[in-house]
Amino acid sequence: MKKDWQILSDKIKNSNNVLLSTHMNPDCDGLGSEVAFYYYLLSIGKQVKIINITSMNKNYEFLNNNSIIETYSDSVHNKWIESVDLAIIFDIGHYKRLGEIANQINKNNIYSVSIDHHLSHDVFFDVSIVDIEAAATGLLVWKYFKYMKVDKISLNIANGLYAALISDTGSFRYNSTTPDCHEMAEDLLKAGVLPYDVYSSIYEQREIKQVKLFSYLIDNINIYNDMFICSKINLQTLNKFNCTIQDIDGFSDYLRGIKGVEVAFVISEITDSVFKISFRSRGKYIINDVAEDCGGGGHKLAAGATIKDKNMEEIEQFIIKKLNKKTKEIHVN
Ligand code: 5GP
Ligand code: MN
Repeated sequence: MKKDWQILSDKIKNSNNVLLSTHMNPDCDGLGSEVAFYYYLLSIGKQVKIINITSMNKNYEFLNNNSIIETYSDSVHNKWIESVDLAIIFDIGHYKRLGEIANQINKNNIYSVSIDHHLSHDVFFDVSIVDIEAAATGLLVWKYFKYMKVDKISLNIANGLYAALISDTGSFRYNSTTPDCHEMAEDLLKAGVLPYDVYSSIYEQREIKQVKLFSYLIDNINIYNDMFICSKINLQTLNKFNCTIQDIDGFSDYLRGIKGVEVAFVISEITDSVFKISFRSRGKYIINDVAEDCGGGGHKLAAGATIKDKNMEEIEQFIIKKLNKKTKEIHVN
């Protein structure tokens, strides 16, 4: 890793205009990492922009104090992107989750570095700094700052990294939480983070319409084999509740928490006949292989996919078949 950090540091040193980005439908790990890096790069005199391919959940606006997080638009950004000499991409999983930004990186021959904790076979990036054991991409960013001996972590940086850390460790609940994570938290608290402010900004902002949507989703669960649980929502229903796809965030976590549930998945229609699937597992069965079979990917116990040209029932049955098959396999762990 030290070698990688040195490569990154050399690249940063020799760059002036740096583009930061993360995956579509960004989460707090991707956003917090890019925000932390933004303020760090600014502090060492770089020109830097955060440009994401899709907008973010409104709950995460607390990370966007100075409106530094932009959503890609060709007319607004293409000209600036032409001047970029380094792109650093966080938490991406698969380069395709950059959407058009990947094409812009290619087209302009921009040197690209991925910092990630997803298993990836991408050859898209010039350098991939990946540690799949890391609980969050934000943890890797913190490690880079440690490597660079950044002595004073500003509150903006600390809040970004704290958001990344709690979001991917389930607020320090998952087994991916290591002593490193707590050491990082210690650093961030010393920098002035108020844990409940960050926590409540992310998790305690549900609107009534969203809770009603959850109620619909609960009313419409299907349980298979007493341990697999699925809920589905189409566009029409989403509209009826005056909700968007972002309002479903967190629902698969909730379903996984039901006693006896081993795997939960939620299928939601993003646009006409394009579906997002969100998988969660309690640990007995890994589900990123199932997500991969659906054209997506992710972590062993939290994964996702986007599917076109199938209907929701077909997708549900496809997944259930895969999961049922797992129950017949012999488990080593
Ligand atoms: P979520 O269910 O929270 O949207 O996503 C959980 C995890 O699944 C993400 O952290 C990411 O690793 C992965 N993931 C979600 N959607 C996709 C997707 O469309 N493609 C890929 N490759 N991974 C995804
Ligand atoms: Mn992550």
